[in-house]
Amino acid sequence: MTAETHDICIVGAGPAGSIAAERLARAGARVLLLDSQRFPRYKCCAAGVLWHDVEDFPEIKPVIETYNHAMAFHSPSLKHEFSIRSDDHYLLGQTYRAQLDDHLARLAEKAGAEFRQGQLVTGVELLGDRRGAVLAVKDKASGNTYDVTSRLVIGADGVKSIVRKSHPDFAPWSKADLLIASELDVPMGEQRVLDIYGKDRTTHIFMYFDNLPGYAWIFTKKTSVSIGMGTMLEFEGKAYGGRALADKFKAFVVYLEQKGLLPARVADTSKTSYALIPSVSLKDSVTHGRNSLLAGDAAGAFVSALSGEGIYYSMLSGKYAARVASDALATGDFSPQALAEYPRLWRARLEKELNYQYFAKRYMLEVKRRCEKAVRWGQHDETIRNVMSVFFTGIWKIDRKFMTRLYGHYVRLKVKDLLGMLGERERKKDYA
Ligand SMILES: Cc1cc2nc3c(=O)[nH]c(=O)nc-3n(C[C@H](O)[C@H](O)[C@H](O)COP(=O)(O)OP(=O)(O)OC[C@H]3O[C@@H](n4cnc5c(N)ncnc54)[C@H](O)[C@@H]3O)c2cc1C
Repeated sequence: MTAETHDICIVGAGPAGSIAAERLARAGARVLLLDSQRFPRYKCCAAGVLWHDVEDFPEIKPVIETYNHAMAFHSPSLKHEFSIRSDDHYLLGQTYRAQLDDHLARLAEKAGAEFRQGQLVTGVELLGDRRGAVLAVKDKASGNTYDVTSRLVIGADGVKSIVRKSHPDFAPWSKADLLIASELDVPMGEQRVLDIYGKDRTTHIFMYFDNLPGYAWIFTKKTSVSIGMGTMLEFEGKAYGGRALADKFKAFVVYLEQKGLLPARVADTSKTSYALIPSVSLKDSVTHGRNSLLAGDAAGAFVSALSGEGIYYSMLSGKYAARVASDALATGDFSPQALAEYPRLWRARLEKELNYQYFAKRYMLEVKRRCEKAVRWGQHDETIRNVMSVFFTGIWKIDRKFMTRLYGHYVRLKVKDLLGMLGERERKKDYA
């Protein structure tokens, strides 16, 4: 049997794959978009989007259900807390992945891409001499298998990427490359959401909750909340995934119920889902190989190490992958040298931003006492509140000047703290 042939095959119709498919189809390419699942489908994700998602990808606007204008940060000891509020600019937008991903896949279809659902890609083989690649595909409904050939494959198939696994130019993840997170959507009426979280629909971030390096969250949607918890799969020789995370997540739910931040008995923890999030060192990340590009989670480079935010970076990588693929089609040059334009593009736009996120994770989120201090100081100090807001919501630009000012401010606050001059609240004995 001869394999069917397409210009470009994209494996995975998450935000990375669908944006790439849509951009390529608009540029006139014959694109095949394959996904193993039928849409709309659940994806383990809190589905909070930041302002840059909407600014740079306005097509997602129709599926943003609601916007949050306040965010509360809680310290590891749970003794300290501060809130940031923004009237003029929302802090987060909320959607559901079932809706968002279905919407983006439909836009790709509308632009002319062929979207095949329920098609599991089981392997990728290079044809040699840069002639292209063959994908082995299984139709999940019938069990039938077939091959698809294309000059270029875009692997946008998420953290468990088969393209990454079966292509000789990409290395497998190491445990240190992976974060792990739990997510549970808790439906409740719209009025109940407003009663508990207010008209700003305050979202909550609990730093280093119950000694878990990372953070737990409540993302407030219109008629439900997403609660979850993210950490490193392995940190300082200790495993944090699996049962450890599941137990802490249950403790988190109990705590929220006790504090009135979640109505009693509405969260069914047996429905919690867990997923890995790749977060590799940008320095070492390889995102192109022979006849292939990796986008989104499959690449590992496109996630904020601090917050686990990946939707925006996935869409951006999909956009750049499409641009490079389109140029390769136009020139007929699919050599690794031509495809090297892809890392050049994304590095120019993203490297600094993602490195600052990594810095914030390394020097704050991974260190319990610094998380405590950040929230304790933030109670008194507007600059610290703004900085936390910048790192978690990305509303202002982070650059070298910002970091230098932050360092100067940190030293000033440290001295004030040592001299007991932070403010009245600091002298209360329960803050000792
Ligand atoms: C608990 C949790 C919470 C998160 N919260 C947020 C958040 O609030 N905001 C944010 O920005 N990011 C968040 N993220 C990160 C975000 O979910 C990911 O970064 C993002 O989904 C990556 O998009 P993608 O397109 O690369 O891959 P995915 O969204 O994972 O899509 C991959 C697609 O590939 C398909 N696929 C996989 N294997 C195959 C195969 N062999 N054959 C065919 N198809 C295949 C899958 O069915 C899937 O549809 C969160 C992640 C987790 C785990």
